[in-house]
Amino acid sequence: MIVESEKQAAAAIFSEVVPAGDYFLKVVEAGQTFRILDLEGNQAADTLFYNANDVSERYSAMDTIREQGNVYLTAGTKLLSNLGNEMLTIVADTCGRHDTLGGACATESNTVRYDLEKRCMHACRDSWMLAIAEHEELGLTKRDITHNINFFMNVPVTAAGGLTFADGISAPGKYVEMTAAMDVIVLISNCPQLNNPCNGYNPTPVEVLIWN
Ligand SMILES: [Zn+2]
Repeated sequence: MIVESEKQAAAAIFSEVVPAGDYFLKVVEAGQTFRILDLEGNQAADTLFYNANDVSERYSAMDTIREQGNVYLTAGTKLLSNLGNEMLTIVADTCGRHDTLGGACATESNTVRYDLEKRCMHACRDSWMLAIAEHEELGLTKRDITHNINFFMNVPVTAAGGLTFADGISAPGKYVEMTAAMDVIVLISNCPQLNNPCNGYNPTPVEVLIWN
């Protein structure tokens, strides 16, 4: 569902451009709204959310899908935790569809899906591992890296129930915006994947903006 935002970039209290292949990690406080802006189009932003006050509570794809009765995420979607609590709500969306089934790229899955020689290619899981290693104070470990959201990524489910990584439907300037219902750690890997069309074979930067 396409819903445009009324928020002005000039009124944001924070903004940061996240290069392709880099990570973004920040606490968004309850009541704040944040936007991920697809600057050049067709870029996947692989995202994890944790309760900033208890990281054992985190985003849950299955609870979110079950409660909304739909596999795609868009405006109106409540992003639920593994405890069934609302973490964030998508309040604006000019892309219209985001994936939470496809998972994030990893060197292991690149090897299985594409080729043994892809083993050394940079993947989202590496960026998340680097993020938690550089932020020990959060208390996150490898086992806390679970299912995620792929903002702007197009993974349609076929009539037969199959998953397909399709060409993106995002475009330059499209964005998705969420309001936090609790203090959340936002951990984004701006995907470096080059083997499937999630980034249009050309990973590009995204921008994160936050409003009070
Ligand atoms: Zn990735």
